[in-house]
Amino acid sequence: MQRIAYAQTPVELPLTLASAADPGPVPGCDICAALAKERALARSRGDHSKVSDCNVEIRNHPHKELKQRGQR
Ligand SMILES: [Zn+2]
Repeated sequence: MQRIAYAQTPVELPLTLASAADPGPVPGCDICAALAKERALARSRGDHSKVSDCNVEIRNHPHKELKQRGQR
């Protein structure tokens, strides 16, 4: 029997947990919508690093000009 005597690499978050933490795209923002689409594609390919890339981009996307100013 083999004993594991070395530190193991951290376990990756399960997909369910990761998707629960997905930031939602801001409604009306084309960039966010495109990123969300790309993220869904990456997820379907099993490309988790791309998925988290998209999440970071969506989370960091500034929306100053989309602030509701006198919208009807
Ligand atoms: Zn956006």
